[in-house]
Amino acid sequence: MITVLKPNTTDEQRDHLIHWLEGQQVQVHVSKGDEYTILGLVGDTAHIDMELLESLEIVQSVKRVSEPFKKCNRKFHPEDTVVNAGGVLIGGGHFAVIAGPCSVETREQIVGIAESVKASGAKLLRGGAFKPRTSPYDFQGLHATGLELLSEAKKDTGLPIVSEIMDLRDLDLFADVDVIQVGARNMQNFELLKGLGRTDKTILLKRGLANTLKELLMSAEYIMAGGNENVILCERGIRTYETYTRNTLDLSAVPVLHELSHLPVVVDPSHATGHSSLVPSMALAAAAAGADGIMVEVHNDPLHALCDGAQSLTPVQFDHLMGQMKRVLEVVRP
Ligand code: PEP
Ligand code: MN
Repeated sequence: MITVLKPNTTDEQRDHLIHWLEGQQVQVHVSKGDEYTILGLVGDTAHIDMELLESLEIVQSVKRVSEPFKKCNRKFHPEDTVVNAGGVLIGGGHFAVIAGPCSVETREQIVGIAESVKASGAKLLRGGAFKPRTSPYDFQGLHATGLELLSEAKKDTGLPIVSEIMDLRDLDLFADVDVIQVGARNMQNFELLKGLGRTDKTILLKRGLANTLKELLMSAEYIMAGGNENVILCERGIRTYETYTRNTLDLSAVPVLHELSHLPVVVDPSHATGHSSLVPSMALAAAAAGADGIMVEVHNDPLHALCDGAQSLTPVQFDHLMGQMKRVLEVVRP
């Protein structure tokens, strides 16, 4: 349920109403806009007398929110949320490019790629240390060492870092990681989501291979229900009957998620397509569709990459993409 307060409501009147509502065993989520303040009520609101609430002098309107996702719902928070990712802003007009290898491999590799993507204009560095691989015989990531090397690249370049967590028991290792990624395969790992909800880390939540957008939003809700509202949504392609591309990029996810939610939306064209030749056009299309950022895999030597080489851009290709991206952004975000 949402309660919209009239513009002239004083802080004292607002707090008094919040206190009364909390006494009815509901959580109150306050969103202060330029004109109106919206109180989002979460919990069992069935027993709240809507007519009584509506009759209060300071109340403009009261509406039930039929969707099961509340805190990430745009009705709760009409303005775009701007998420802080290690000092870099994403959302609400702030566009950010996250780039880096699928996996951290060596110090030279990650520091070298970090320096080159930074020079091309990337704002965050990605690199997997815990890799969710289909085969147990494939490279699984460098684990703690990978995160240490990523930290060194951060120290060297000043770029905030993004890395995937697969197990809450590793959380302490992520102290220096600015954005914790929840991969597609863990989108509905509810205990992981709840655990991350208890942290104050920025979370990049990727859409599952076979999940609907509403399910993605329910997973974001798990994180937010725990108190952590720093969530970025990521469309990375879904399974369809098409096999030419690794997945099918659902670009309409961008405007749909923006319609339903106030959270920032980034697009990963690398995992969506699986082929480096297709990455630039989909990255540009994502920006044109209104995405708040993109995440792109970049490798200094894609042919010898330990993971996802086929979809990785070289630093030169990435630099070229960034030049084109600048021009697209000038048109779609003047
Ligand atoms: C990744 O970003 O390296 C990754 C494994 O992505 P996804 O979870 O989308 O497959
Ligand atoms: Mn990858």
